[in-house]
Amino acid sequence: MVQTMKIGRRDLMAVYDRLHRAFGPQGWWPGETPFEVAVGAILTQNTNWGNVEKALANLKGAGLLTPRRMAAMEPRRLAALIRPAGFFNLKAERIGCFLRYLAKRHGLRMEGLLTADPGRLRRELLEVRGIGPETADSILLYAAGHPFFVVDGYTRRIFSRHGFVDHDVSYDHLQEFFTRRLPEKAALFNEFHALIVTLGKQFCRPRSPRCEACPLDPP
Ligand code: SF4
Repeated sequence: MVQTMKIGRRDLMAVYDRLHRAFGPQGWWPGETPFEVAVGAILTQNTNWGNVEKALANLKGAGLLTPRRMAAMEPRRLAALIRPAGFFNLKAERIGCFLRYLAKRHGLRMEGLLTADPGRLRRELLEVRGIGPETADSILLYAAGHPFFVVDGYTRRIFSRHGFVDHDVSYDHLQEFFTRRLPEKAALFNEFHALIVTLGKQFCRPRSPRCEACPLDPP
């Protein structure tokens, strides 16, 4: 069982409401197609979104941001185009693994992935090399619109600082903390995760959190 303080659905919704009032709608995920979102979810591992945007712009500029074109590309060319996202050889390999999965299970068509059973899809994605729970849930939520709450380092830092969860809580338990207390709605999960990331970037920094100006009350 996840270790938590007593916090109910209304309390968590109050956190959401406060963040939403403070920051407004976040408009995530900034991808034009589900495939772009899925590729972006792999590219954003261990880097900031600004670098991902440059890599995606390179792929778009070369007219290659489709499953078929990318699957036909030389891995070295793919790595060169996504270089701005960092760890480019590793990420090219991971995108290659995702494309092989997409080809094998869904005929290289995102439509097949988007209409697959969500639970089965999550299990399959987690079997793809280089796709962990955060990346899988980002694809499920932001590309496919399924209600899987995405948690990350910002979520862990903020909610452990407030004593809601342990700082070393596992991904699954932290996710469960949210899904047990929130209505199962993709739009809510989408916005809440994006707001948490904004809170983490602007206020709840690793060192010297800006509690005095934060929209949440200090712990
Ligand atoms: S900055 Fe302070 S008040 Fe804001 S979320 Fe972090 S710990 Fe809480």
